[in-house]
Amino acid sequence: MQIVSIIPEAFCEWESEVSLALCCLSCNFKCWYCHMKDKIYNPLNTLGTAKDFFFRYINPMHTALIISGGEPTVWRESLFEILLIAKHAGLKTKVFSNAMNYEAIFTLNKYQLVDMYSFDVKAAKDLSSVIGVDISDETYFTNLYTTLKNCRENKVNFELRHTMAPGIDTEAVKQLLSGAGMQDIEVHYQKYIEYKN
Ligand code: SF4
Repeated sequence: MQIVSIIPEAFCEWESEVSLALCCLSCNFKCWYCHMKDKIYNPLNTLGTAKDFFFRYINPMHTALIISGGEPTVWRESLFEILLIAKHAGLKTKVFSNAMNYEAIFTLNKYQLVDMYSFDVKAAKDLSSVIGVDISDETYFTNLYTTLKNCRENKVNFELRHTMAPGIDTEAVKQLLSGAGMQDIEVHYQKYIEYKN
């Protein structure tokens, strides 16, 4: 897993923990409003591997490892490996994901490699226009719900996020996720901050 950005001590991304946060190269989406888009598609932005940075930065103050991106699940084996290393070191783990690679998430859950996910809910409709890749709304939601169902079945905690970018019907997303609170699922609505490169 190649890394493009590091937060040596992250507090906001997982408020109950002191985390080492690693952001990986690459994503299966191309969201027009992505704040990482200058970094995640160009391998020249790579700073090193997740393993290298883990052993360089981890210290006894850390209680957790966070992997975000980009999309961590596109790395599959090397994602599994870095999470396994973190687990063997006694750390909690959190993965930020768009939830589409449900097979990768099945494996992560099967081997209990993740304590917490943060899944991004992009929109309630017209997903292709938001995420910049050709996907039907039906496929998007089938993948999303398959992922969430597997987490529930495996008793792995997750939160949901949504970025309130211009042109996205956030009210429709709120409607879609209106039942989340009753199932003890936290939903974070993130403000859109204009992208500048
Ligand atoms: S899924 Fe996330 S990382 Fe990937 S393009 Fe969209 S906002 Fe960026």
